[in-house]
Amino acid sequence: MSLLSLFRRKEAAEEAPPYGCPHLILLPTWTNPEDMGKDDRATGYRCYACGEPLTVEEAQEARRRSAIAL
Ligand SMILES: [Zn+2]
Repeated sequence: MSLLSLFRRKEAAEEAPPYGCPHLILLPTWTNPEDMGKDDRATGYRCYACGEPLTVEEAQEARRRSAIAL
């Protein structure tokens, strides 16, 4: 395998998948500053990759899907 093909493969992996962002890395967000840092008190999530805001339910769904994918 050449270095060039390795490079191409890396490039392809960094492109967004055709079915949309899988939201694998979710950053919790809080509306109440006192709850900041407490994951179970998060009022929403933001995807680290695409920046899309997600509700708690959507985040749980994305995690379920990524768990199946793995
Ligand atoms: Zn995303």
